[in-house]
Amino acid sequence: MTTDHLSPAARSKKFGAAEADGIVRCDACPVLCRIRPGRQGACARYANENGTLVRTDPVLLMQRTLDESGKLVAFADSDWDGAPLDPARTFVTGVGAGTTYPDYKPAPFIVSAEHDGVDTVTVVTEGIFSYCGVKVKIDTDRHLGPETAAVRVKGEQVGHVTTAEYGSQMLSIGGVRHLTGGSKKEGNATCDALLDLCSGNAVEMSIDGGHAVIVQADQAPIVDGKPEVRMRVGCGSATVGIFARQWLGHVDEVIVVDDHITGVLTEHQAGRVLDMPPTGIRVRGRKSTPGRYFQVAHPGLGWGGTDITDPLSIIQKIDPAVAWPGLRLLLTSTTGEDALYCILDDQLKPVPADVPAPVRTVVERIGENCEPSLCSVLFMAGAGGSLRAGVTDNPVLLTRSVARGETRVTMGGAPVHVWAGGGITVMVDVTRMPAHAFGYVPTPAIVAPIEFTLPRALYEQLGGHAGDIVPIDDVIRSFAATARIGAWPHDNPWPLGRKEE
Ligand code: SF4
Repeated sequence: MTTDHLSPAARSKKFGAAEADGIVRCDACPVLCRIRPGRQGACARYANENGTLVRTDPVLLMQRTLDESGKLVAFADSDWDGAPLDPARTFVTGVGAGTTYPDYKPAPFIVSAEHDGVDTVTVVTEGIFSYCGVKVKIDTDRHLGPETAAVRVKGEQVGHVTTAEYGSQMLSIGGVRHLTGGSKKEGNATCDALLDLCSGNAVEMSIDGGHAVIVQADQAPIVDGKPEVRMRVGCGSATVGIFARQWLGHVDEVIVVDDHITGVLTEHQAGRVLDMPPTGIRVRGRKSTPGRYFQVAHPGLGWGGTDITDPLSIIQKIDPAVAWPGLRLLLTSTTGEDALYCILDDQLKPVPADVPAPVRTVVERIGENCEPSLCSVLFMAGAGGSLRAGVTDNPVLLTRSVARGETRVTMGGAPVHVWAGGGITVMVDVTRMPAHAFGYVPTPAIVAPIEFTLPRALYEQLGGHAGDIVPIDDVIRSFAATARIGAWPHDNPWPLGRKEE
């Protein structure tokens, strides 16, 4: 195999079709744009450069550095140091690699390299994903909208609110129904939102029957214009359990207001174990177990993800046979951002008072134990026909090999979670992927890099396109001058090494 195989002319022949008047037909996706000289195709990913079809973004080659102990480390300036690329430490990513269509064409790069004495192949492509979306985790206990409510961007539905997780609200954005199953406008709005979210840009969303939220990967969510700061330390019951001992002797009762479980200290098992006497203060809502109450209010943007702004409204009654004048009562949210200290007067009415220093310390400790509120964006997609057939003539063998863990899947070099069961359905944290990794085609669908790494012998057994394998040295020789070179992120495992590396 010679580097001629990788020359622009050879690749153009492989990936495009010349027509009259210097027009090139791009065949990297089903749109099949006819591109005039000097112009770009509909997705701007391909252009006609003097009759040659070229990918407008350079392919991304990533190089790792190791410390003396052999551990992955970042470049000193977190970028490439300019030295010639070492084939043993270079990984060809799918970013800028290009796409093949129709299905049977081999992937744009099928690269061989020797690692740990094993002849290895990495099949590199940009997948076109119609079945794809993002799962967004928003660290807040504030109510963003009812479960299953529509999530809209610029008025178009692009997803929905899904099952909340512990301390986080979850959104499911994208998916084939919004991309291609509705109107063209809905599909385009969904594609734009996905592209922005995956690229680390902020996206403003509104939720039917709920609130507006600005989501950006690895940044704090902004709910109705207010940046969220703290993720709750736990539910109200957990907060009571964590801090009960620290409150002992400083307060007689603590109510931790939470939309999920509101905790009442003296009634809770934590207070009982500490022999705290009952106070006769009963909160609203449905009692689950002692000291743990569901549905104390409606969900909202108030205390602890409820709609409560006056915390005393949570008290249903105070039993005069049990409570006593001078009783010290603390009400707090699960983040410690909201807190009210009261003392019962002679009529057993709570009267706000200055918070004693030891009580303030515990409230501040609740805040200290909250993690910063962030948005996490996980891209999820299923590998379709063109992608799998670009790897092997017998795609089910690839699917089985991925399921068995013999073939490692990465996206832009980032590790992915492969779902159990059929198909190749993967999920990746977009913040672990290189910048500018995502694109789109107007079908509409999202374009994302994907790489399959496996031993060469296995690749051949799977019916891989062995005739298209190119040594890594040739790829470097042909592309080092034009490629984008990046430093390998030291917290991503090296896909070409042993699994534990
Ligand atoms: S949309 Fe992009 S990838 Fe698809 S044919 Fe046109 S230029 Fe090529």
